This record gives sequence, structure tokens and C-alpha cells, in this order.
Amino acid sequence: MPQDATASNVVVIGGGAIGLSIAWRAAQRGHSVCVLERGELGAGASHVAAGMLAPVTEADAGELALLELGLRSARAWPAFADELAAASGADPGLRRCGALVVARDGDEAAALERELALRLELGLDVERLLPSAARRLEPALAPTLRLALAVPGDHAADPRALVLALAGAARAAGVQLRTATTVNGVRVEHGRVTGVELRGGEVLAAREVVVAAGAWSGALTGLAPIALRPVKGQIMRLRDPEGPGLLERIVRFEGGYLVPRGDGRYVLGATMEERGFDTTVTAGGLYELLRDAGELVPGIHELVVEETAAGLRPATPDNAPLLGRAQDVAGLVWATGHHRNGILLAPVTAEIVAGVLDGDAAPAAFAPGRFARARAGAAA
Ligand SMILES: Cc1cc2nc3c(=O)[nH]c(=O)nc-3n(C[C@H](O)[C@H](O)[C@H](O)COP(=O)(O)OP(=O)(O)OC[C@H]3O[C@@H](n4cnc5c(N)ncnc54)[C@H](O)[C@@H]3O)c2cc1C
Repeated sequence: MPQDATASNVVVIGGGAIGLSIAWRAAQRGHSVCVLERGELGAGASHVAAGMLAPVTEADAGELALLELGLRSARAWPAFADELAAASGADPGLRRCGALVVARDGDEAAALERELALRLELGLDVERLLPSAARRLEPALAPTLRLALAVPGDHAADPRALVLALAGAARAAGVQLRTATTVNGVRVEHGRVTGVELRGGEVLAAREVVVAAGAWSGALTGLAPIALRPVKGQIMRLRDPEGPGLLERIVRFEGGYLVPRGDGRYVLGATMEERGFDTTVTAGGLYELLRDAGELVPGIHELVVEETAAGLRPATPDNAPLLGRAQDVAGLVWATGHHRNGILLAPVTAEIVAGVLDGDAAPAAFAPGRFARARAGAAA
């Protein structure tokens, strides 16, 4: 029998924004929780993410359940951030800045009109702005701008600050955080989870195992394959030596975005690349980001490059997360597949998964087995 070395009833695999949020909420509900992270906390996609909380700009006609989940999480974010700051003494960097989506030519303007129509049909808060009105809000935008949409409810948080705050709050709530601890696989006996196996052979007993290992969640031994793939994103972190003020709002454009942190720092992102587990930063990726952003906000060419990075978004076939209990293994809970929206979805994911640990049902739209069921249905 495995050793009950942690005395935890819940083991969370992965110390990113998702695993830490769940661990904190589960501990608040009285569970004894241990997070196992193979590197540093937040070393995966959460370290690279821009941190937009942007359900409205991300909305897609084919992804209405995801939109609802995103809106719910966006509404939860302010109270989540306040509670987190109070519990940890660290600020998760929420900025209620709003966003502008901009078009630089006729084709992009036509596409933006369609995006506007969809959002108005869905009852979302967006406003069409003439270029002059957009430039009054953000004077750094190029005069060649063709059209803009204002999205006042889409904001941003700082994912690295979020991870620090979550770690502090989780620790204060009694969560055991083990870094430099790689999980090889999940132990399953007679259809029930009994624990996890670590690299090096140690086995930790657990009554419940939550898989929150981001893009690597499918690599754990002992579990059936899941529909998850990594989607690479490259970003640049920029700093204005003159301090804040170049941009106040998030600026989104075809192929990327600029996210101001409010203190003169900006994240310029992001590529979307299907290249497996490759996290190299390429000249071509950075060139395209700079070229497109520089056409719309020429002032970014004056900024200092502080960092370049690439991360892996955990993506599912329908871009929505896998949340809830596995059908085939008792005690196994999935919390991954957050793709482009894991920072946005951290509060609602934590609430749903902590509820699942207490016996609540997760929303059916995000059932971890939905792709296997669809395949079985198609085969029949
Ligand atoms: C370029 C880019 C920009 C993004 N921008 C945004 C944005 O603006 N807004 C937004 O909401 N989202 C954004 N995202 C998406 C967001 O980063 C992810 O959805 C989110 O970080 C997923 O969090 P996670 O905790 O599931 O995964 P991760 O942050 O990847 O964490 C998973 C953790 O599990 C650990 N791990 C993996 N395998 C094991 C193992 N076997 N044993 C132990 N530990 C393990 C990893 O080391 C890692 O720390 C962006 C992503 C990228 C790449």
C-alpha cells in the first residue's frame, strides 16, 4: 500500500494558476491539500500569459458555453482579487482598464463590423468608435487606424503577481506546496485513485487527485488518453523608460495585443502555433508581433525589450476546459484545457472544482469525457 506521506486527502498535480486556485479554495472548505509542482510555482503557461480577462473580445459564436463561463469568471474576478490580496498580503495585479479592438485596413474593418454585430446580438457591452474617438481615448494609436470597438468590461490581471498571491493564500490556508516534485503518474486500483507516483519512486496516497498540469496533463501514466494539445504562444515584455502613459487600455488587433500593466510595462503577444511541446522563441514570431503592433502603436518601437518567452496553452478540440470527475476512475478530477483563458477562468474553475470535491456536479458542457462520448456516438 502507498505511504500516506502527505496526510492530504486531495493531491493537486500542477502549481499553475489553475492548480493553486483550486488548492486555495479546497483548503478553505476544510480539505487537507497538497500541490505537487515539478518546477517553480507558476512555471508553465501562467508565467508567460498576458493576463487578459477578456470574455467579450474572445467571444465566438460557436463557443457560447465558454462565453457564459468566462463572463461568470470575469464577474467573480474583483471579489476574488480582493479576497486573495487580504489572504496573502500580495496584490494579484487586477487592472480595470477596458480594451479597444482596432482595425488598420478595409478588410479588418469589415471583420470588426461582423465582430461588433455578433457581440450586440449576444447582448455584450461593446461600442463602435470612429478612429478619431479611439485616438482621443488612446492618443498613441496610429492616425491610419480605420475603425475601433470599445470593450469597457474586458480587463487584465498580472499572472505572475496572481501566482505569488495564490501561493501565499494557499499556504496561509494550510496547503502544502511541494516544488521540484515531478509526478510520473496516477495510481489507480480497482477503478479508484489511490495516490500518485513521483519521479524517484516515492508514492503519495490520496483520496482525490486533481489533474491541473496544464498542457502536460495528458502525459501522466495510469490514465486514459485525453483530448489535449499544446498551442504555443510567443510574447515580448516591454518597458517604457519614460514610465506609464503610452497606453491605458488593452489594444487588440488582428494577430496580437498589447496589455499595459499600468506602470510602464507592456506585454506584446502572442503567436498561436501548433508545434507540439516546442517553447523556443523565434525571430519570425517576434518580428510579426512587432511589425503588426508597431503599425498601430508606433511608439512601441521606443520601448525597451525586457524579456521574450514562449508558453504552451492547454487546448481542447472545442477550446473549452475539462472540468469535473472522470467517469471511469473514482477520485480523479480533471481541471485543465483552459487554452487562451486560464487566467480569466481561474476563479470560476476553483469554485467549480472545489464544489466537485464536496460532491457537487460540474457543468455538463465541460465534462472531461465529452470528446470520447462524441467519438463513440459518431462510431455508432
Ligand atoms: C502566450 C500566452 C498568452 C496567454 N494570455 C492569456 C491571457 O491573456 N488571459 C488568459 O486568461 N489566459 C492566457 N493564456 C492562457 C493561460 O496562460 C493558461 O490557460 C493558464 O496559464 C493555464 O493554467 P494552468 O495552471 O492550467 O497551466 P500552467 O500554468 O501551464 O501550469 C501547469 C503546471 O503544471 C506543472 N506540471 C506539469 N506536469 C507536471 C508533472 N508531471 N508533475 C508536476 N507538475 C507538473 C507545470 O510545471 C506547470 O507549472 C495565455 C497563454 C499563453 C501561452
